[in-house]
Amino acid sequence: MSESSSSSGPGMKLHTKILLGLAIGAVLGVIVNLTVGSDHPVVDAVNSYVAVPIGQIFLRMLFMVVMPLVFASISLGVCGLGDIRKVGRVGGKAVGYFLITTAMAASLGLIVVNAMRPWERVTPETRQALMDRFSKDASGRVQVAATSEFGMQTLINIVPRNPIQAAVNTDMLGVIFFGLMFGAALTLMPQAKAQPMIGWLEALNEVVTRIIHFAMLIAPFGVAGLIFTVASRFGFDLLVAIAAFVATVLIALLAHVGITLSLVIRFLVGLSPLVFFSRIRAALITAFSTSSSSATLPTAMAVAESQLGVPRRIAGFVLPIGSTMCMNGTAIFEGITVIFLAEIFGVDLSLPQMVVVMVMSVLTAVGAAGVPGGSIPLLVGILTMFGVPGEAIAIVLGVDRILDMSRTTVNVCGDLSAATWVARSEGLWKPSDVPKVAGAL
Ligand code: ASP
Repeated sequence: MSESSSSSGPGMKLHTKILLGLAIGAVLGVIVNLTVGSDHPVVDAVNSYVAVPIGQIFLRMLFMVVMPLVFASISLGVCGLGDIRKVGRVGGKAVGYFLITTAMAASLGLIVVNAMRPWERVTPETRQALMDRFSKDASGRVQVAATSEFGMQTLINIVPRNPIQAAVNTDMLGVIFFGLMFGAALTLMPQAKAQPMIGWLEALNEVVTRIIHFAMLIAPFGVAGLIFTVASRFGFDLLVAIAAFVATVLIALLAHVGITLSLVIRFLVGLSPLVFFSRIRAALITAFSTSSSSATLPTAMAVAESQLGVPRRIAGFVLPIGSTMCMNGTAIFEGITVIFLAEIFGVDLSLPQMVVVMVMSVLTAVGAAGVPGGSIPLLVGILTMFGVPGEAIAIVLGVDRILDMSRTTVNVCGDLSAATWVARSEGLWKPSDVPKVAGAL
């Protein structure tokens, strides 16, 4: 993004404004919650008429461009790579990276949960109180889980019957598949015939990029609204009740970013992790405030290009796939939650069973949709696999939003590190390509 069009005013850069929006929304939300109370009519009114509308408009602006963005960037990515073998190689590397880092994340989660044993801190009274309070919500999730089973059909569903319907249903994998086919077909056509369509796709990409500019201009307000809503309505009493569980998930997420991903970024990508994380902060804040990898995709693409210098044909290819397949943070959360709830319900898992939990966490993280709470139905599926009632999810639902914000941020770190590493391994990017001066975002 060009400096002039993205910085929304003299003096302060856009990313500083977004950070300020995050801080103001969080501080005001927490103050209001702790003083006035989360269900006070004034808090309701501020949320209904100010914070929710601003947050939702920002979110919708981002979602609005996701489908055209995915279609155009995947098709152009394939065209840009030129030949199908290259596409296969780049895709294979990206998926390999997603799976390996997600498996490392899930293993780390299992180590941390076994070391911290958070289930020992939950009294039977807390367990019962949480089950009662969230039973309605939980049974709704169990029903959704029953219809979203993970198996052969999941694989078949990647191929959409109707690409327009896939886009309408925000079926990301379906649109990605169609984009791949579309780009592949274009590369096989005579240049003269393919060129008008490529030009059209490039124009579409440009249009979408400009709409992302508009969305980012309201990002500081949108982020403030989203965070205020979460913080002002949050049940802080729940946080205290299962603080040990929340701390376990957060420590594992931090350890993954601070150790595993930082080592990968240092040694495989070749960048200082501090430089990397500071360059991608606009995407991290967007992920944190929206709890959605899909909604963060437009910002992640802009950041990859303008802040890290990753070529569009790689970022545009790897990031859309990563936003739905690469979920390091989700795998950590799932593994820890399954073991935590199993222990609470008296199901003592053996080591081989824990390995199965890890594998299932990786697979379902890959299959989870990049939307808020996207992993919950799949998580319910793993619980029932181990004889834990699906309704047990009630125990963690009250704190899920805060964990979702955190794990989505880690998911997006994984996506961006993947795109940068793939670009480097293809010889299309080197650490010195990172722009010397950070751009506006
Ligand atoms: N909200 C997560 C994401 O969009 C998915 C999940 O873990 O529920 O990345």
